[in-house]
Amino acid sequence: MTYVDGFLLVAFCAVVCLPVQASGWPPPWLEATEPFHVMDGIYYVGSAGLGVYLVTTPDGHILIDGGLPENAPQVAVSVAQLGFDLRDVRILLNTHAHFDHSGGLAELKRRSGAVLYAHAGDVSALEGGFYLGSEAVEAWRAPPVAVDRVLENGDIVELGGRRLTLHHTPGHTRGCSSWGITARDGAAERQVLVFCSASVAANRLADPPQYPGIVDDYRATFARARTLAVDVPLAPHPEFFGLLEKRDAARGSPTANPFVDPQGFTALIDRFEADFERELAAARDQQRVSTP
Ligand SMILES: [Zn+2]
Repeated sequence: MTYVDGFLLVAFCAVVCLPVQASGWPPPWLEATEPFHVMDGIYYVGSAGLGVYLVTTPDGHILIDGGLPENAPQVAVSVAQLGFDLRDVRILLNTHAHFDHSGGLAELKRRSGAVLYAHAGDVSALEGGFYLGSEAVEAWRAPPVAVDRVLENGDIVELGGRRLTLHHTPGHTRGCSSWGITARDGAAERQVLVFCSASVAANRLADPPQYPGIVDDYRATFARARTLAVDVPLAPHPEFFGLLEKRDAARGSPTANPFVDPQGFTALIDRFEADFERELAAARDQQRVSTP
């Protein structure tokens, strides 16, 4: 079984499987994995199923995402294994306010003393600790975390000579943020993108939509994603781009760089868009059936 859409599994399990499945989470989400260097001071410090990224600078570090609340201690261990100190993290960022990527932020903020920046569309969910549009679902809550600076599309986060650009890619959440970073790779310069996600997962597309405007947001995101130059795609779910397999391939072949994978990015966008249009048609058909 793969967890390419692990969140969908959780959405299903939150309704159906919780009594028989103790944690409710796909096992890789909580499974430690060896942290690794992607390129030019960008590191993977997440679990086997939830991506967390450390971007190092001489003036302190940036951490993107926090995994589940249970992942926070392991993130600290992974950072230390790489020779860094979580207390040197100055800025926390988030791809999107879903508990499996924002749940660890409150604890990581407490341990690091860092500030949290987030897109305006996700601030209420982060600070309220809920899944926007499904506020009553207890299983999808996350520890509330205060946002120190509110961002919008095109904003640049700068620290120690590094610049991270926020590309707003809404739909999966209202504030879904993909982070662009220019990185050196030997003599080459690569465009790295930590892509938020554009899966439908647990979102309602109709009757009523998860949030107003969600359908237009998804479509704008598919269009925007195709305008981005992406050499090195990274994601909050490592299986989106086969990151752990690329880690292992990099170890076996020190000259090639398997993380350079522009086709992997466009293929995922194509797949997410096809899934979205199919699920939207099904949701609208269902609506027609239920409202004669
Ligand atoms: Zn999500």
